[in-house]
Amino acid sequence: MAPHVAATPDRMALVDDTATLTYRELNGAVQATADTLRTLGIRAGDRVMIVSENSIPLACLLLAASLLDAWAIVVNPRLSPREVDQIRDHSGARRVFFTAGVSQEAATHAVRCDAPLQELGPLRDIGVTALNADTAAEPVEADGAKQVAVLIYTSGTTGTPKGVMLTHRNLLFSARGTAGWRKMTAADVQYCVLPISHIVGISLLTMTLMVGARVRLVAKYDPAALAKAMAEEGITILNGVPATYQRLLEYRRNAGLPKLDRGCLRLIAVAGAPLDLELKSRVEQELGLPLLNGYGITECSPGISGVRIESPRADHAVGTVLPGVETKLVGRDGKPVAGDAVGELHVRGPNVMRGYYRAPDLTAKAIDPDGWFNTGDLARLEGDVLYIVGRTKEMIIRSGFNVYPAEIEAVLSTHDAVVQCAVVGRPVEGNEEVVAFVQLIRGSKATAQDLMAHIAPQLTSYKRPSEIILIDALPATSTGKILKHKLAESLRSPG
Ligand code: ATP
Repeated sequence: MAPHVAATPDRMALVDDTATLTYRELNGAVQATADTLRTLGIRAGDRVMIVSENSIPLACLLLAASLLDAWAIVVNPRLSPREVDQIRDHSGARRVFFTAGVSQEAATHAVRCDAPLQELGPLRDIGVTALNADTAAEPVEADGAKQVAVLIYTSGTTGTPKGVMLTHRNLLFSARGTAGWRKMTAADVQYCVLPISHIVGISLLTMTLMVGARVRLVAKYDPAALAKAMAEEGITILNGVPATYQRLLEYRRNAGLPKLDRGCLRLIAVAGAPLDLELKSRVEQELGLPLLNGYGITECSPGISGVRIESPRADHAVGTVLPGVETKLVGRDGKPVAGDAVGELHVRGPNVMRGYYRAPDLTAKAIDPDGWFNTGDLARLEGDVLYIVGRTKEMIIRSGFNVYPAEIEAVLSTHDAVVQCAVVGRPVEGNEEVVAFVQLIRGSKATAQDLMAHIAPQLTSYKRPSEIILIDALPATSTGKILKHKLAESLRSPG
């Protein structure tokens, strides 16, 4: 994860809301930060936790930890005290750093965790906890590529946070593959609003520094600020989850702007959740570029597949698989499925994680002895083009029929009043019902009956929801993913 300092020392590497660093300056800042971390007792194999939003201090701390062969754990400051402490305790972090100077939320956690503010080399106002003397350093790999670079606690859309160990090799392989697809060069300016506490943010940072290009680090998503940055800052690549684009379009509409100025933008990409085709076509119309869908998972660093810039698609395909990654689709009998049938997607290659930290049983369940990682996603292949159909754990079995929530969500989303929706199963007397939660455009008068009338002609009877529940806002993670397990729980414990 070393920045590209030798080739492009005077090019801008990082820009955040308050500062800029060239590659030469970044290199100096990282070296100085690493020296300070060493004096603070950080050793190779230690876990170093950084509570921060996307910012230059976060990037410096992350790269400095790597330089010392420590494992970095980046945590979103918007997590609750309980969640932050859970990660600290599970990881056995030697020290926790809070970027209080750039984030009010991080500053609040620093006070709560009794972490006085310090200067770390060039970084100011970093909250630092006392040294945790009880924690042991993990063994250091002789081959640096095999050393764990980051420990990522997954956002937990399924309810069980797990610490995913990703090595330098994992991260570099995935980042190199994605940068290649995107034909990235040192002239690119990547807008990085997806959190670096999440694998996608780490990957964006890695791939951009790898090619000597510029990363525009954004702490909090604000569609108005994005529109301004597109028009004024030479942004060439924009990455988002579907909600990023949804909110950008909403902003344009509410601000009464005739059109967004896309400036130098040349590539727009989306990943992380099923892509709604209505949204895709509206985004493409607005920005005049194809919206390239990509599929990944934290455990695969995250790259698995993506739509290539030279062969954009009109459907929700997630593209072709990264060169060097093997895939197979497995049926419920454990055997590979034939033709274009749906199966559970297993992945093998240099992108697959080392395992879940301190959870050998979970690791053994996820990765078989031959190195195949089970994504838990249901997929099908048309030729070499991959489609994600849903998640095994989210599939609803109604009267013996398989119901894939993503299909019903796609149909519901074609109603003009629907902002977002989520379909989950409700257990009833040995069967499962289909229940849809729907968030409507503010002020919409549409009713559940209207939505039912809209979808009924498009879905066979067993796929139609037994109930459509209108909800003000769907519970979501920091990357905008809907927390379906919370919705499913709310059906089990009404009131
Ligand atoms: P947990 O693993 O605890 O459920 P999570 O869902 O947030 O947390 P991530 O690694 O962030 O874990 O997300 C990976 C999942 O996101 C994939 O397994 C897949 O279900 C979904 N996903 C990612 N990209 C796409 C895409 N382009 N289309 C459909 N689904 C996608």
